Amino acid sequence: MRAIEHTVARPVSYHDLGLFTGEPVAMTIHPASAGTGIVLVRTDLPGSPEVPAQWGRVTDARRRTMMLGAGNGASIWTVEHLLAAFAGLGIDNARVELNGREVPILDGSAAGLVGPLEEAGVVAQDRLRSWIRVRRPVRVDNGSGSVQMEPAEAFVVRGTIDYPGTAIGRQSYEFTLEGSRFRDELAPARTFCTPEDAETLLSQGLGLGGNPGNVIQVDGMRVDARGGLRYPDEFIRHKVLDCVGDLYLAGAPLLGRVTFVRGGHELNRRLLTEIFSEPANWERSTCPPASGAWAQAETRIAVA
Ligand SMILES: [Zn+2]
Repeated sequence: MRAIEHTVARPVSYHDLGLFTGEPVAMTIHPASAGTGIVLVRTDLPGSPEVPAQWGRVTDARRRTMMLGAGNGASIWTVEHLLAAFAGLGIDNARVELNGREVPILDGSAAGLVGPLEEAGVVAQDRLRSWIRVRRPVRVDNGSGSVQMEPAEAFVVRGTIDYPGTAIGRQSYEFTLEGSRFRDELAPARTFCTPEDAETLLSQGLGLGGNPGNVIQVDGMRVDARGGLRYPDEFIRHKVLDCVGDLYLAGAPLLGRVTFVRGGHELNRRLLTEIFSEPANWERSTCPPASGAWAQAETRIAVA
């Protein structure tokens, strides 16, 4: 795990539709100075309003997506895959410019975001990373699902989903954020929907950008995944990916063990709210769990 802050080496651009709005959007991820965090910018609105990617900015997490907003009416939808890519690659600082209201969906996973970011390069900055360490167990539930987080010396997410009577069935997956594991285990996992989901969204005027190229369709025991499933348990891997992205809205990398059962964006938002509602639940630390990496970073900064 990285001990010092990182940003992208050069700007990286993407063009595609938004999954929920169906509107075309261009997005460019620019390097940002140490201490900036992740900032999203609506370049299509007067004054190019900025929205920091922080949990307090979530305005809607119910519609199977995370929406961030600012007091000036600017909002940005579907930030979770982008934030998961940043969390997974250890990117602390970036300025993300969008000329529309939704992050492009690409193939429905984070792989299309991660590839160009890795190609551009991720560079170290002259500042120690600040971690948010959970100090005691925190749990939220909604009657049918729950998310909890407890102290641990790594960031671990274990998720379980249950779709009885469908090809998904019950799946569990445990992910530990380290090395290239995000790229290898989670980034390629695509989003999915059932006919009921699609109907609900369309009735709300949403899901307009969904097509077989960016959403796996699951109808009972039938699975329509372009090119076939990338993992037998691609569904739960995607839900874990969503959770990693949602929780990066903490504003810094987290240390702790997350367990969810039939979780989702709204429960993830509530978990962060609950953690930060009580100062005794968490602490900030610049000391990462791997003391070896810490010692190396300390040496590099001392030399710089
Ligand atoms: Zn997702």
